[in-house]
Amino acid sequence: MISDLSQLEVREIQLERVTLQFHNPISTFHGPLTTRDVIILTASDASGNLGFGEAAPLAGFTPETLQEVENALSEWARDSDPGHLTGRPTAQAAVDAALLDLASQIAGRPLHDLINPGSPSVLPVSALINGQTPEEAAESAGAAVDAGYKTVKLKVGLLSFSEDIARVAAVRTAVGDTKFRVDANGAWRPTEAIDHLTRLNRYHLEFIEEPVRGLEALAAVRANSPVPVASDESVRTIDDLHRAIKLGSADIVVLKPSALGGPQLTAAAAQVAIDAGLPVVLTSLLESSVGIRSTAHLASALGALDPAPGLATATLLATDSGTPFLPIDGQLHLG
Ligand SMILES: [Mg+2]
Repeated sequence: MISDLSQLEVREIQLERVTLQFHNPISTFHGPLTTRDVIILTASDASGNLGFGEAAPLAGFTPETLQEVENALSEWARDSDPGHLTGRPTAQAAVDAALLDLASQIAGRPLHDLINPGSPSVLPVSALINGQTPEEAAESAGAAVDAGYKTVKLKVGLLSFSEDIARVAAVRTAVGDTKFRVDANGAWRPTEAIDHLTRLNRYHLEFIEEPVRGLEALAAVRANSPVPVASDESVRTIDDLHRAIKLGSADIVVLKPSALGGPQLTAAAAQVAIDAGLPVVLTSLLESSVGIRSTAHLASALGALDPAPGLATATLLATDSGTPFLPIDGQLHLG
């Protein structure tokens, strides 16, 4: 993508642990998330240019602990041997994002434009709506539409299906013909997923993320689902992606640069998906605005804008790192 990152003359690397807090608990693959710790990596050159990256390991999603990531980054900072980052995708992501950001600062151009000249500086993003009851979900969804979002997303699978379908129905009524996707985070059993999706089909969903866990189960569900199926947690590496394509596990592929190993690996993965005819949705890993900003630049550079990227998640944070990167009128503006 950018071939000369190794030529950057990095003078100093700084690592800082930051605790992020969410306004409300976020439901994930492995339970609710209220706070999390991340590491912000700052790379500087002799002229005072700064590049920022973020390592945001997420238990149950990425393979490393925060301590392992911090150790790997400290060792890399000492001798810049990329071997220290092997098997540490969130550390790799921090390094790659920071060096790309530094290259963009040195070039005096926004990163998206450095990677792909002329790529857009404004991109639409989807809003994650909350609410345990149909009324709460409808209120949250209506507020998102009023705020300018053209795509909304609701988590399902934590409540009974009858509660979920009531929430989906209420959101559909609240948002009119706004694009509406749901995410089950792998919560449903393969035996029930088809029936659930058949019943959800009347609400004209854009897609469902991870109705079930695992690439084989996703392939079996997708083969009979009236709702397009997106992979997310089941694709954690490029090898997983190749297997997903071979098995027919997904109509759409969600990719998280902060989990996969950074912008450049994600660009390669996105190309694999696009070559297989699968649209790519870039999303955050519920990290701070440092990581979100990097992924937004990549989404623009790759033209991965429809379906809308899942990058409105700084709105969920009560404490962030750096300047909060918040959508305006449902869109992120890349400086
Ligand atoms: Mg998801």
